[in-house]
Amino acid sequence: MDNQKEQKKNWISRSLGLYRATPYVTEYEREANVRSTFYMSLIIILLEVSMIVRNIVKYVLTGKCTTVEMFFAYTKAYWLLLFVGVVTLLYSIRFVRGKIPPRRKSLSVLWITLFAGICLGFGMYVSTQDFRSGRMIICFLTMTLYVACLLIWRPYLSILLLTAIGYGYYCWLDVSSFDRDGNPLHMNAGDRINYITFFISLTMIAISIYHQRHREATKAESLELAAITDTLTGAPNMYKFQQTAAAYLQESQKTGTELIYLFFNIENFNTFNDRFGYAGGNELLTSMKDLICSNFPNEPYARQADDHFVVLTKADGCDLRIGSVRNSIKYRNKDEVYLDVKVGGYRPKDIHADPCLEVDHARYAAELLKNHPDDFFREFDEQLAKEYRLRQYVLNNIDRAIKNGYIKVYYQPLVWSNDGDLCGCEALARWDDPETGFLSPGDFVPILEECRQIHKLDRCVYEIVCQKMRECLDKGMPIFPISLNFSRLDFELMDAVGELEKLVEKYRIPREYLHVEITESALTDNEGGLQKSMKILREKGYALWLDDFGSGYSSMNVLKDYKFDLLKIDMVFLKNFTKNDKAHKIIKSILDLARDLDMMTLTEGVETQAAVDFLQGAGCGRLQGYFYGRPMTFEEIYAKIEDGTYRIAEHLI
Ligand code: C2E
Ligand code: MG
Ligand code: MG
Repeated sequence: MDNQKEQKKNWISRSLGLYRATPYVTEYEREANVRSTFYMSLIIILLEVSMIVRNIVKYVLTGKCTTVEMFFAYTKAYWLLLFVGVVTLLYSIRFVRGKIPPRRKSLSVLWITLFAGICLGFGMYVSTQDFRSGRMIICFLTMTLYVACLLIWRPYLSILLLTAIGYGYYCWLDVSSFDRDGNPLHMNAGDRINYITFFISLTMIAISIYHQRHREATKAESLELAAITDTLTGAPNMYKFQQTAAAYLQESQKTGTELIYLFFNIENFNTFNDRFGYAGGNELLTSMKDLICSNFPNEPYARQADDHFVVLTKADGCDLRIGSVRNSIKYRNKDEVYLDVKVGGYRPKDIHADPCLEVDHARYAAELLKNHPDDFFREFDEQLAKEYRLRQYVLNNIDRAIKNGYIKVYYQPLVWSNDGDLCGCEALARWDDPETGFLSPGDFVPILEECRQIHKLDRCVYEIVCQKMRECLDKGMPIFPISLNFSRLDFELMDAVGELEKLVEKYRIPREYLHVEITESALTDNEGGLQKSMKILREKGYALWLDDFGSGYSSMNVLKDYKFDLLKIDMVFLKNFTKNDKAHKIIKSILDLARDLDMMTLTEGVETQAAVDFLQGAGCGRLQGYFYGRPMTFEEIYAKIEDGTYRIAEHLI
């Protein structure tokens, strides 16, 4: 029952327009009013100009009076209305073109009301004269209609104002109008009925137009809201963030406040999702949004994607607020699932830069906090800026570097341990860029892997190697096997086997002269696809080498799950080799293990005679390291072969 009453009450107040409109709806209605003002002021201008011209023709051109006399006697009111009409027209044009500052927009209602008042006053003035002379009060009715079209009032206001104007003017005419003999003048019964009908109809039209416009406004608002809001959490999306952040930055410049972009990432969100399902995950995201709202009130924020949120806030004291968000998430369900929040910060240097791109700096800083359980906030500092610039450079220029030949291949000798004869080389990429100078793979390989672009580099390296081998074969120069580094991603991002095969066929290279090196840390899970590719490679006649053995966490598993022809022992085992007695034992047992598994062996990072002596004694097949030579250009290695520094071994495989 109460509910029904409440509904009825709501319906009545909605019908009368007795509710608080949202800022969007208010703005929409205000703009609609100003738009009608544009057309209505045009009408007034045309009307008044025609009236003035008519008077000039009637009085000045016929010589009945001078222009000045005509102005004061007949056209004062027309000039006044013309002036008001022109000012209103200019104002409405400025308003619609967005030239009126937001805080002065509310004055538009005042101005239009004033304009409406003047028009109505004019109508009353003319019609009163007409009525007293026995004519119809058309001018007043026209002006009332005009004013009703000018502003769309809330229904209760339309009812009140139109009743007051209609009834008030009627009473005023009734008591203040007399004929020439001094007898009171009254509207006749027929006119009175028409008059009342006119006002009732006008009120209804005004109410109906209002509801129509209000519906349009709310529809537009919900459409716009959907375009700028993340549907899951109700947080603004990045499109909205871009706008609010830009305005906030402008404002901060005036007040001299230092701002900072924050990038929030919920760590371990996937596990949380697995444990509590999507509904639980969604709830967590909504709580995260609420936490951000309450800790950074009235500041631009957005859900960027997945479990990532961004905020633009005052730099001063932001760490406390970050800590508060983090703690609330971290200690929620703490006994069931480990959760943490990692936050990156970036203080913008240029307030005109695109906020969506600027946030990327903060994201970069946040990503570096992964797997650092004690740290949760890191600012993007100079060191990071350097890394970030390099990363952007690498990603933006890898295609150009390949096309322009900035990618070079260096060759590091591999020798037999028993006699030091050259049994091959490892192809290692270098980036010799005219802008940044010389980059070593440590600078660009991890970036290319992280951003899934590594296959471009590798394909380029393989092609250079095959090309050089073909040149040697054509010139009758001796060749030796070259080992190529393959990233696990190569098998995902391109048809690695197919690409290699294409090159081998194009340059007619014997397959046993190319070795495939795959780093151990890339082989964590036993992947069917990779196993299949490796099987094909072996069947085709390529030797498979396991690179950097012992550097990862699951070296033994890799040996168990995959089949390799050669095991390359990582250079970490030779670090402090002379001082560390255990290193000897470990290397020896790895070599024994490899032998048991029927694998050949190579040790990387051989720098000293002592290491050579030990590895020779322990039975390691091949050696690689600075002791025998650093990676060098193709020309350098052949020069060294020619001058006898390296002697190509009789048996190469
Ligand atoms: P890696 O495949 O293990 O290559 C051996 C790295 O050890 C090379 O570093 C080499 O210069 C270095 N090295 C060799 N002997 C010694 C030594 O005696 N002492 C020391 N301290 N270092 C030695 P580089 O050329 O900087 O390459 C680093 C890594 O970058 C490579 O490790 C490889 O994983 C990757 N990489 C290089 N070129 C390519 C490429 O074309 N494709 C892919 N996917 N990765 C590449
Ligand atoms: Mg390698
Ligand atoms: Mg290696």
